[in-house]
Amino acid sequence: MVKVSELFTSIQGEGPYVGYKQIFIRLCGCNLNCAYCDTDFGIQNSHDYTIDELINYCKLNNDVHSVSLTGGEPLLHTDFIKEFSKYCKLPIYLETNGTLYKQLADIIDCVSYISADIKIPSCTKNLPMWDEHEKFFDIASGKILFAKVVFNNEFNSNEIEKVTNLCKKYDIELILQPQMKSGALNVTSTEILKYLDLCLNKYKKVRLIPQVHKFLNII
Ligand code: SF4
Repeated sequence: MVKVSELFTSIQGEGPYVGYKQIFIRLCGCNLNCAYCDTDFGIQNSHDYTIDELINYCKLNNDVHSVSLTGGEPLLHTDFIKEFSKYCKLPIYLETNGTLYKQLADIIDCVSYISADIKIPSCTKNLPMWDEHEKFFDIASGKILFAKVVFNNEFNSNEIEKVTNLCKKYDIELILQPQMKSGALNVTSTEILKYLDLCLNKYKKVRLIPQVHKFLNII
């Protein structure tokens, strides 16, 4: 049994796999508390699902690219991921905040794709997680992997240096995702292009991809 705050089929709205149809299993709980978080991952409106129920849902909706395990932070549920992956015939796409490296090591063989955030302290208002991210990428590299950075106009040059160095070290694509607030971009287009160029000046594998599902008004 696992606590799921949302189970649905839609399109991936973020990152390089944008537009692919996926099953989303949004698991409850998170180890972080980002200032810009707009996801309801609490247990108040959650539903308990058995592995069988989730596998049946996947069988009935199998015209998808993959099953996104998202949250909250899905790596808080490693026992579930191990059990679910034994029976799931679809590729598993892990959407994670990229900090729980020990938990990742425990389930690394269960997933095919990893979308890992790099958290920017000036934007999240959380403590820096650079060491955690580095240990995370040590374990994740070798999988189909990319890094995603949610940014606003507080993103600073020291953080840009750290982010680009980290992606360079692991030779992974860096996806810049401008922060949204109340359905609109929370960064001006001039600032967005400025940040893109600042990152591109340090590393070439950088792409700017906003949250497309929000522009389409799709969940
Ligand atoms: S890691 Fe993601 S789910 Fe957790 S608080 Fe931050 S934005 Fe929200």
